[in-house]
Amino acid sequence: MQAQRYTADMPTAHEATIIDGRAIAATLRDTVADRVQAMQRAARLDAIIVCGNPAGEVYAANQARTCESLGIEYTLHTLPAETTESAVLDCIVKCNNDEACTGVMVHLPLPEHIDTQAVQRAIDVAKDVEGVNPANIGGVIYGHRTLVPCTAAAIMHLIESTGVSLQGAEVVVVGASDIVGKPVAVLLMQAEATVTSTNVHTTDLFSHTRNADVVIAAAGVPGLVTGEHVKPGAVVIDVGINRVRDEATGTTSTVGDVDFESVLPVAGFLTPVPGGVGPVTVAMLLRNTLEACLRSHS
Ligand code: NAD
Repeated sequence: MQAQRYTADMPTAHEATIIDGRAIAATLRDTVADRVQAMQRAARLDAIIVCGNPAGEVYAANQARTCESLGIEYTLHTLPAETTESAVLDCIVKCNNDEACTGVMVHLPLPEHIDTQAVQRAIDVAKDVEGVNPANIGGVIYGHRTLVPCTAAAIMHLIESTGVSLQGAEVVVVGASDIVGKPVAVLLMQAEATVTSTNVHTTDLFSHTRNADVVIAAAGVPGLVTGEHVKPGAVVIDVGINRVRDEATGTTSTVGDVDFESVLPVAGFLTPVPGGVGPVTVAMLLRNTLEACLRSHS
């Protein structure tokens, strides 16, 4: 697709093109499956979970199925809820030292008595398939694109899928967490975009997003970015995953940080929630698992 740039004086798009994260993820998984088949040695992903993390347990079950379908071995290490930090670290060291294990990840959140950063630091840099070890996060600054944090990699891939050029584009990242907002801001800088990073203390979010060619919403605030925040034709990537309860019906649903209905008639491209960044993030984990395995043999 030809690269395009939008300006505020262009007519409002009738309706944004929905970026189909599920389809993009399926293509990524197919590529991983083909490359896994061609490999000389088995890839094995070891995941560690501490009991009492229902969302993590669902994710782990999905991971097991997906890995199996791609030809990647999967081992889940389940530790009791009352496990200690040193027991988690011991488990990581065992995985690090196990030659058959080529990728390691830890399901978050961990119980409060465990230091998440200490756990992430313990993962062997070469097996860190979520890209959470500070060495891999730091590597992003130097342009190392191998074990990039998965959500940041997914956001970049989704923007690239639109064909919109990032070089010279005004991009606003809403949210500056260590694992999403900051790494993606650095990746965008490497793509030679003009990047504005915003956070909870940003006084006038509107004034930044309204001029942006690309808006990335990663604040964890349901419906934060509305149609009024968005320049006509902009690319809007919704990273948020928020569970909200409708008091009227008593039902619970998953929504993003973008008010989908009001942004749809304004944006040029828009990711849905669910079905946008989420599935591509999972596919990036699998791609990182493949890359880690390939690098372990080179
Ligand atoms: P976090 O809580 O660690 O960080 C939130 C960031 O948003 C902070 O920098 C905060 O200052 C900023 N923020 C809060 N309110 C703001 C506002 N009004 N304006 C501007 N900035 C504001 O969150 P996180 O871990 O980065 O996650 C953010 C969201 O993305 C959550 O909904 C999370 O569930 C989701 N998430 C999705 C994926 C995925 O794969 N789709 C992965 C990770 C996180």
